Amino acid sequence: MPELPEVQALVDFLGERVVGLAVTRVELGSFSVLKTFDPPPQALEGVPVDSVSRHGKFVDLDCDGVHLVFHLARAGWLRWSDAMPNTVLRPGKSPIALRVRFSDGSGFDLTEAGTKKRLAAYLVRDPKDVPGIATLGPDPLAEEFTRDAFAALLKGRRSQIKGLLRDQGFIAGIGNAYSDEILHAAKMSPFAMASSLDDEAVDRLYAALRETLTGAVAAASGKPAAELKDAKRAGMRVHGRTGEKCPVCGDVVREVSFADSSLQYCATCQTGGKPLADRRMSRLLK
Ligand SMILES: [Zn+2]
Repeated sequence: MPELPEVQALVDFLGERVVGLAVTRVELGSFSVLKTFDPPPQALEGVPVDSVSRHGKFVDLDCDGVHLVFHLARAGWLRWSDAMPNTVLRPGKSPIALRVRFSDGSGFDLTEAGTKKRLAAYLVRDPKDVPGIATLGPDPLAEEFTRDAFAALLKGRRSQIKGLLRDQGFIAGIGNAYSDEILHAAKMSPFAMASSLDDEAVDRLYAALRETLTGAVAAASGKPAAELKDAKRAGMRVHGRTGEKCPVCGDVVREVSFADSSLQYCATCQTGGKPLADRRMSRLLK
């Protein structure tokens, strides 16, 4: 799943290519992908793209006041083409959820693998009309997102820090992968309670958050859309690396699994050497 750094790189990539071009057509490969009905997709035909921006993990193409907004969700991706095929997209026949064509013949497809279809697109006159954008927390790379602003957000939150970092209403743009990376860099347990962090822990977490995301944005920036997924994976130190060696201390990267996700961490770096309980692992050992 693309998170803030990849979405930012996609936004930069699209911005360089489509600003100034006109949208010629928006085709739906799945009727359920478009969550709004007014304005209709035809409203974008012939309209120039003024800007491309990001709200958390949402991409926003501002086409003269009509915004095409999309969220790639867990299995979605954007496939760019300098020369789009002429074939017409048939609903239900392909993993392509949405196709956008531009006036120079270029365009992109939004694709989604798997059976759970969560990719969502919206056509709105105000991005705040998208429910997921209206409720977004602050952007962690914004100038106003200072160490003290972060401390104020954490204050009194009786939640585990891993879940809180992924909560889009708390901070916008961080998902399962970068929350693992941030907590590893901060040497903090994913299950630490936010409200129990002392000043020094907040300092560490804030520095880890900014450094991890800034580094990932720098690494992703300038890469073509097609390379972002692999680049993201390559930059991970613990996320998705169960059983491999922690690059900091050499301990094995461990996992805690949940119903539909898992987290990875290093016990030596993050939990004082003590492995966290894992329901699935303990069930297997019984
Ligand atoms: Zn380690």
